[in-house]
Amino acid sequence: MQDFHHNRARALLQNAEELFTKQDVDTAVTAMADHLNARYNHPEAEAFPLVLGVMGGAVVFTGNLLPQLTFPLEFDYIHVSRYGDEDKGGEVVWKVVPRSNVAGRTVIVLDDILDEGETLAHVKQRLLDMGAAEVILAVFADKAIGKTKPVNADIVGLTIPNRFVVGFGMDAYGYWRNLPGLWAIRPEELQQT
Ligand code: 5GP
Ligand code: MG
Ligand code: MG
Repeated sequence: MQDFHHNRARALLQNAEELFTKQDVDTAVTAMADHLNARYNHPEAEAFPLVLGVMGGAVVFTGNLLPQLTFPLEFDYIHVSRYGDEDKGGEVVWKVVPRSNVAGRTVIVLDDILDEGETLAHVKQRLLDMGAAEVILAVFADKAIGKTKPVNADIVGLTIPNRFVVGFGMDAYGYWRNLPGLWAIRPEELQQT
């Protein structure tokens, strides 16, 4: 059983291509932190933002970004995923809904990747329905899919090609969230597992 998982995980990385190194990723996260700090780190601010990490994909991004933010903030996580295929996904399913007080606040949503944008469009709408004053979408990777998305990210770390990627929190079948860089997997490799 252990061997099966080991081989399956290894097979996914066969012929994978490293699109961004750990260094590229770190630089991108720091640029995002600088951007957020410039916007929210002012002493006269009365209310501080609520930062929501979208589990599970944003777990590594969140863990890297948060210690670089220099303004007071409240952090919590939400858990939402698209039910269905690994990459194509269908209905948006909520596993952990926003629990903090959202009304009247600036809410900064951290997510791993903006693909077709269905997930974050849904998240943003829910937060606005709960009365958020503004919703800022900070997305580590924005996939260039060649068509208009239902929602745009306000802050982007890396713009990536239209390929399936793993690493820096992003998985294939639960594997390889632990890679420090960003790797593109070949579709054949995804299908065979
Ligand atoms: P969307 O609703 O924007 O199409 O899907 C967003 C979610 O799908 C992401 O938060 C992520 O969980 C997953 N996803 C989309 N593209 C990729 C990808 O290239 N790699 C991985 N690992 N997940 C992806
Ligand atoms: Mg996600
Ligand atoms: Mg996934």
